[in-house]
Amino acid sequence: MRIVVLPGDGIGPEITAATSNVLRVAAARFDLKLQLEEHAVGHASLEQFGTTVRPGLLEIVRSADGLILGPTATADFKDEHSGEVNPSKYFRKSFDLFANLRPAKTYPGLRNRFGAFDLVVVRENTEGFYADRNMEQGNSELLVTPDVVISLRRITRHCCERIAHAACKLAMNRRRHLTIVHKSNVLKLGDGMFLDICREVARGYPGLAVDDILVDAMMAHVVRRPDRFDVIVATNMFGDILSDLTAELSGSLGLGGSLNVGADFAMAQAAHGSAPDIAGRDVANPTSLILSAALLLAWHGERRGDARYAAAGRAIEDAVAAVMREGRATRDVGGDLGTAAMGQAIAEILQSDRASAAAAAR
Ligand code: NAD
Repeated sequence: MRIVVLPGDGIGPEITAATSNVLRVAAARFDLKLQLEEHAVGHASLEQFGTTVRPGLLEIVRSADGLILGPTATADFKDEHSGEVNPSKYFRKSFDLFANLRPAKTYPGLRNRFGAFDLVVVRENTEGFYADRNMEQGNSELLVTPDVVISLRRITRHCCERIAHAACKLAMNRRRHLTIVHKSNVLKLGDGMFLDICREVARGYPGLAVDDILVDAMMAHVVRRPDRFDVIVATNMFGDILSDLTAELSGSLGLGGSLNVGADFAMAQAAHGSAPDIAGRDVANPTSLILSAALLLAWHGERRGDARYAAAGRAIEDAVAAVMREGRATRDVGGDLGTAAMGQAIAEILQSDRASAAAAAR
C-alpha cells in the first residue's frame, strides 16, 4: 500500500510525523508492504512552488492507494488565482470523496463529563453550503453590492442518496440506529428533500431504527445524552459543526479522527484545523490523525480483501485505547505527554502485546 502523506500547516507536520511513526510500526508488526511518501502542501508548497497544491501532485496522489492530509491553514488561502487553493477542498472535489466519516467515542481512563458514548457522524462532503466546491465552475458566494452577499447551498437527490446509503450501511454494521439531522422546518425544500431521501433509503435496510432531529435541538440532545446516538447523518455544514462538538464531547477536538471516502479513493484527515495557537510546541494531540490513518488502513483492507490491513487498523485503535487506559495522554485531555511522546507511546504498545491484551480485556 502506497500512501501519500501531506503534512500541511500549523500542527500538521507534528501530528503527521507521529502518525507516520505509528504506521511504520503497524507495517512491521502486520507485515504490510507500506510505503509512505511525503510531499509539501499548504504554506510549504506555496513558498516552494508558488501554489498550495503544486502541479503534478494530483497525479502522484491518484497513483497511490490512499492519502493522509494534515490540517492546512485554509483561512489564509484567499485567492485561488494566486495559487492559494484550499487543499482539503481540492482533494475532496478531485476524487469526489462524498462521505466524511467522523467517529467520536470516549475512552476508559480519560476524563469525560458527558458519560460514555460511541457514535459516528456521517457528513455529506461535496455540496451543501460549501461555496468553493458546490459548483462545477466558479463560486457560490456572490457579492451583489459591497454590502450584500448571497451564499447558495446546493442539495441534490444523487448526493443525498449516496450519503444516506453510506450512513445506513455503516449503521447496519454497528448498533443499527440512524439519526437524520436536518433543518427541514426552515429549509423546507433542501433539507426536506434530504430528510425524505434518507428515510426512503433507510427503508431498504431491514432492522434499522431511524429517527430524526432538527439540527438546533440536536446540539442539546447530543450534549445531554450522547450515548443515545449510533450513526448520525447530516448535510455538509451541519455535519462539520456537529462533528467538532462530538469530538470535543469525547474529550478533545484532538481525538477527532476522520476519513473522506469516495467510490475508489480515501483520504485520512483529522477533523480539526491547523491549530496555530499551539503549533510548533509539541503539545498537539496526534490521536485524531492516527485514528484517521487506522480508518484508512481498514478501508484499504476491505477494498482489497486483505484482512491484515483491517487487523492493523483495529490494533492501532486498541493501542490508542490502551495508552489512554494507562492514563497517558496529551495535555488537551488532562495528560502531560507531548505530541511525539504520545505517538511513541501508541507505537510502543502496538509493537508489544499490550494492545491485544487490552482489547481482549474489553
Ligand atoms: P482548529 O480546529 O485548528 O482549532 C480549534 C481549537 O482546538 C484550538 O484551540 C486548537 O488549539 C484546538 N485543537 C485543534 N486540534 C488539536 C489537537 N490535535 N490537539 C489539541 N488541540 C487541538 O480551528 P481554528 O483555530 O479555527 O482554525 C485554524 C486553521 O485551520 C484555519 O486556517 C482554518 O481555516 C483551518 N482549518 C483547516 C481544516 C482542514 O485542514 N481540514 C479544518 C478546519 C479548519
